[in-house]
Amino acid sequence: MRRFRHGKVNFHWCDRCGTILLGDKCDICSSSGRRFKVSRPGDIRPATGRTIDLIVSLFEKYFGTSDFLRDRLIFLNKVAGEDRTDEVIFQGHVIATIRYDLRIRDFKLDLRLDGARLLAPIANKGLAIMDRESGHLKGKNFSGDLFNEVKGSFETEDPLIILVGNFICSGVARVDSADLHHSKRAIGIRDVGRGEISIAKKSSWTTFVNANKAYILTLESKGISDIRSYIGNHDLPLTISFSGGKDSLACYGLLSKASQKFSMIFIDTGLEFPETIHYVKDFSRKERKKLLIAAAGQAFWDNLDDFGPPAKDFRWCCKVCKLAPLTNLIEKQFPKGTITVEGNRAFESFSRSTIRFVERNPFVPNQTILNPIKEWRAIDVWAYIWLRGLDYNPLYDEDFERIGCYLCPSCLESEWRNTSLIHPDLHSEWDNYLKQWAEECGSDDRFVTYGFWRWKIIPPKMRRMAEEFRMSMPHIRSDTLELKWVKGVSPCLAGGHSAEGVLSVPHNREFGRV
Ligand code: SF4
Repeated sequence: MRRFRHGKVNFHWCDRCGTILLGDKCDICSSSGRRFKVSRPGDIRPATGRTIDLIVSLFEKYFGTSDFLRDRLIFLNKVAGEDRTDEVIFQGHVIATIRYDLRIRDFKLDLRLDGARLLAPIANKGLAIMDRESGHLKGKNFSGDLFNEVKGSFETEDPLIILVGNFICSGVARVDSADLHHSKRAIGIRDVGRGEISIAKKSSWTTFVNANKAYILTLESKGISDIRSYIGNHDLPLTISFSGGKDSLACYGLLSKASQKFSMIFIDTGLEFPETIHYVKDFSRKERKKLLIAAAGQAFWDNLDDFGPPAKDFRWCCKVCKLAPLTNLIEKQFPKGTITVEGNRAFESFSRSTIRFVERNPFVPNQTILNPIKEWRAIDVWAYIWLRGLDYNPLYDEDFERIGCYLCPSCLESEWRNTSLIHPDLHSEWDNYLKQWAEECGSDDRFVTYGFWRWKIIPPKMRRMAEEFRMSMPHIRSDTLELKWVKGVSPCLAGGHSAEGVLSVPHNREFGRV
């Protein structure tokens, strides 16, 4: 069972073939690889498409070089942060962290020591040479007059490579380069090491798959045998929950080898990206599989005035747009029940960290869920998809890490920015709604611009930001006691009915009097 802990986790890198190793050895050259560490939980994933463009643009911006990244494998490791924060893994080293800064609403790069060791010989800017050979360096700030050479210009908070005698350091600018020699606190050193890292030969995702073939095939055969052994003992129709994401695609690969008789279920929340709808329909047609669509239609928009915007801690729409249509579909299509294969993974979130292979859906008693990839990491999923040549949703190449409802409060602000680029119409419709709602509730546009709307109870990190901006949060709006039921109240198959509603209470009324 997966446990979420702090600290580091080990991976191995084959320097000869230029790829990460997922199993015990490289299937191309038999090397057992060099060990390196990343931050937990270590759900690493490959960087492809526009994600590579983003990383390239950041190295170009800060160090005036990026060719070294081309035709070589880059992996990302999601870590905790204000918004999107990823460790960048290159040649078996964590060379940087990229993070989306909510204040400037753009990406920044923090250089790690191994990044400085790699870039020191090739950087065209962002490098400073310090004239001091002794004394403690790590964690200290230094006066600008100690730096006798600087390559290129930089701005406050830019990442820097600092050379001090034989030492190579990663650091950060405390002032703009124009003010360097007037500042006593000009450059901060974060980490100190020795020795350059040379750029390795080129590699490809085909090499990655070939180097890890035995490992992926072992995962596949376990997944298939787990599914077969369960369905062999249970005589219910078989389905797969196909969301259009990578995890359900990997499950499709397993299930199609375990059985030929199954149908696909797609929940169309009414908030899907057009690419996802097209991809799911196209995929099922090409695979000649029956596609059952549980469609929520306009349910989200019909209920929005009553509930207000959903939030990470107020996901009313999951019940209205996912659970209700799914319950209806299963009740109609599978009155005796169904076994559904799903792509839930323990690595995805704390709440999924303890999932078991067989689960009952507490809200849909007729549905038994199998989780054959519960122990897989994102990188295992991608390795399997590439090994089996499965067609994946094109949104992954648009720098989306997870595919779901386009306006989901659980999305990152950085992904919402991506949505504005590929679907400006969908973006502005929701953005305008949120801004109007914020204004009606006594807040302002910043409530939307900086992503505060994503929480009902604002977490400490965002509260600090709101205080910094001197912002007002939306007040509770109702001045009458009112109870509204969600449309589409669903019958509970365990007996009776279950329903969702909103109870609005005047702000100044004690709850005991309700
Ligand atoms: S927007 Fe998010 S919370 Fe709402 S239904 Fe979609 S996934 Fe669930």
